[in-house]
Amino acid sequence: MALPIVLYGDPVLRVKCRRVEKITKELDELADEMIETMIDAQGVGLAAPQIGVPIQMAVVDVAHDPECITYLRIDGEDADLEDCMPLVFVNPELTLHKEKEPCEEGCLSIPDFRAEVTRPIEITARLEMLDGSFITVETDGLLARAIQHEVDHLNGILFVDRLGTTGKMRAKREIKKLAKTW
Ligand code: ZN
Repeated sequence: MALPIVLYGDPVLRVKCRRVEKITKELDELADEMIETMIDAQGVGLAAPQIGVPIQMAVVDVAHDPECITYLRIDGEDADLEDCMPLVFVNPELTLHKEKEPCEEGCLSIPDFRAEVTRPIEITARLEMLDGSFITVETDGLLARAIQHEVDHLNGILFVDRLGTTGKMRAKREIKKLAKTW
């Protein structure tokens, strides 16, 4: 069942989410509902606080566009994007590479607002899976960006926080207008 998505302005989006200490059946079911919610809303990612649950869990799916990355390595081995999507993870640890690029982003919690955000192009992510195992993901492109965006959510950070000064001013003005239509 698709769940209601929490919108910009809700305090749960500003919480530093707690670590997942124990993976339960309920958590597994919640992950399935998050995947459904993300697909239903046509998003490429969704973090648990966006459905009102402040825990370090997120889902990402960029399989609709195999060209959106140039490489994907799981535990040091080349991997197929499709085999890994949707990607559900808890307790992520990111290592960001130095080189950055701007790219347009949106967020399911800020409907109809998009803006260009500058982020590191490549990441190395250590992610805990729902079976308790850990994987190391090395990638770039949209997948690296989506993982960074979702990990930001787990720290109470929204993509609009990463805009420059004028970008933030524009965002504030436009979101205020948009919010009346949500
Ligand atoms: Zn978002």
